Amino acid sequence: MRYISTRGGVQPIGFAEAVMMGLATDGGLLLPEHLPTIDAKTWQHWAGLSFQELALAVMTPFIGDAIPTADLKSLIDRSCRTFSHPEITPVVPVDTRHVLELFHGPTLAFKDVALQFLGNLFAYLLDRSGGRLNILGATSGDTGSAAIHGVRGKERIHIFMIHPHGRVSPTQERQMTTVLDANVHNIAVQGTFDDGQHIVKTLFNDLEFKNAYQLGAVNSINWARILAQIVYYVYAWGRVSGGNLNHAVTFSVPTGNFGDIFAGYVARRMGLPIKRLLLATNRNDILTRFMATGVYQTGRVAPTISPSMDIQVSSNFERYLYYLFQGDAERVRACMEDLAHSGRFQVTAAEQATAAAELPAVAVDEAATLEQIRSTYTRHNYLLDPHTAVGFRAAQGKSGTVVCLATAHPAKFAAAVQQAIGHEPDLPPALAGLAELPSRCAVMPADAGAVRRFIEESLPPLS
Ligand SMILES: *Cc1c(COP(=O)(O)O)cnc(C)c1O
Repeated sequence: MRYISTRGGVQPIGFAEAVMMGLATDGGLLLPEHLPTIDAKTWQHWAGLSFQELALAVMTPFIGDAIPTADLKSLIDRSCRTFSHPEITPVVPVDTRHVLELFHGPTLAFKDVALQFLGNLFAYLLDRSGGRLNILGATSGDTGSAAIHGVRGKERIHIFMIHPHGRVSPTQERQMTTVLDANVHNIAVQGTFDDGQHIVKTLFNDLEFKNAYQLGAVNSINWARILAQIVYYVYAWGRVSGGNLNHAVTFSVPTGNFGDIFAGYVARRMGLPIKRLLLATNRNDILTRFMATGVYQTGRVAPTISPSMDIQVSSNFERYLYYLFQGDAERVRACMEDLAHSGRFQVTAAEQATAAAELPAVAVDEAATLEQIRSTYTRHNYLLDPHTAVGFRAAQGKSGTVVCLATAHPAKFAAAVQQAIGHEPDLPPALAGLAELPSRCAVMPADAGAVRRFIEESLPPLS
């Protein structure tokens, strides 16, 4: 399988190169040149596989001969071993719905599914090439800890993760700073999340430094993350349909950067029987507004109780645009230029109608989110985290089989749960005792020069 850019400026490249490139060199996002189509017999067969067997089957056509089957199988098995549930992503019935629990990984959020795999994949490809990778990122909480747990202890990789000092939740901070592996470097800057992002941008723009120190990113735009997420849509369909191809399923997806729901969209394009893909957002509703009006316009981020969905620009949405424009990379590029220059772009009425039909969108406010947590708990004794509750509420009144993606464990968002039901959730083993563990973190001013010196001092001298 070869990969191309949504903006048309990259000669087709192989899977390994696409993974190491991350963001396309023309500023676009990488996509497979063609999506594999899967025949009826294969879907039926896939419905009976274990998560690990299914991951191997789903990923193989996207990877081709870039990784030998035995190696890919071993990568998948290792990535699943850090999950605390034997099914990896189990589907449980709640009320008349099904909940796809994606939070059994080491940091209790769905990002682990992709980042455990990506960490092992990076390590494998670097071993083969003899290269090294120094990951630099800024986090407001969730992605940082999942990325750290994805690469901890890996040879050939160091990770430098910046968070705003005292401004992430205590749980999130401890999930990052209690990882003591020598290749993990937590940096707390005396400033805001935006300051952290600005420092990362400054250092990435210093091309001499970036190249000398082999700096890379692990954000949600790496194709391998999408690939790993396709697997659980197929898995969930298999569990609730028993392999009956006439049994189309609705998925409700709490959405921020559009990576999770885009994986579902790819699964549907491959032929998975999906009736609806519900795009659920909180008050930060840029995507919901786009579906209603055809205008994509950034605004101010409003903080909510589902902070992992508090975004202004959905970084993976560009991949969907490529399909909406039927592969017209020139139009994708023009829209992204408009967005960069004027903070908005617009699609045609026909395209808006297509998008609204393909991805029906629902914005859910704070009161409804809290009410959903409360009612699901009192009626069904099942605790939703605030992100999952947004998706659950968005599915209200929808007919047929509905699978709600549960993107975080409720204990990660204890304050919101307390607000909804009057007490905090029980702590799962991964969080209990976190407060007592030793931790390591470098605190420094929000200054690119300070972070740069810290990186230089932490790495072996350049030869
Ligand atoms: C990242 C995240 C989301 C949003 O997923 P996207 O792929 O960015 O749309 C939803 N819920 C939780 C808990 C998350 O961490």
